[in-house]
Amino acid sequence: MRLYNLMKSRFGFLNWWPGDTEDEIFIGAILTQQTTWSNVEKAISNLKGSQALSVSTLSSMEAAEIEKLVKPSGYYRQKANRLRSLSSTIISEHGSLDGLLGLSPKALRETLLKMKGIGPETADSIMLYAAGKPSFVIDAYTKRIMHRVFGTPPGIDYGSLKAVFESSLPRKLALYKDFHAQFVELGKRYCKTKPACGGCPAAPLCQYANHGFSVSSSAAKPQNAKKRASQ
Ligand code: SF4
Repeated sequence: MRLYNLMKSRFGFLNWWPGDTEDEIFIGAILTQQTTWSNVEKAISNLKGSQALSVSTLSSMEAAEIEKLVKPSGYYRQKANRLRSLSSTIISEHGSLDGLLGLSPKALRETLLKMKGIGPETADSIMLYAAGKPSFVIDAYTKRIMHRVFGTPPGIDYGSLKAVFESSLPRKLALYKDFHAQFVELGKRYCKTKPACGGCPAAPLCQYANHGFSVSSSAAKPQNAKKRASQ
């Protein structure tokens, strides 16, 4: 919690994962795979403009129509096929997205993970942001920051790192959402591939900033990290 408090005291409470509806959040979670959010926004805007930003609409569209709309998000053929097949499965097996998201947390996660194209990070994002069920999301920023700050193994598997958080935090939806958002903010602003430790709010706790160690072959150790971190 100390890491969370340090980040939150700098960035404030972050109201994160844009999306007005469960459908928009679900579709955004698929589109954001392997691309930046700015590209997803263009695809979402296209879907919205064509009144296709819903699972039930996508389930009855041709993949070629969806391709045109989601093209800005990259890997558009794969994503169009994925959206169409996921939407069809959801409608045929659960009646609606609400029907799927209304499953118990355990059943929902298991069901999502059985769907083609949904891995643990996407499943947890859908659970947390679309279904409103506390399920801690681990992304590349979380792995990188936890490695640098606390020395967790860089290759730690998804489930083990998720368990670190879920076994120690109160199971609160707002906390899980905000913790994830804080990691993203820290990763974008400071803990980039090449860390910018000077002024980083996590520096007082950070093993890398205070003692230095090899974080990866591509990430150079910052010069005078300890000195700058203490400024
Ligand atoms: S102090 Fe440096 S290495 Fe540590 S979290 Fe901040 S940017 Fe990353």
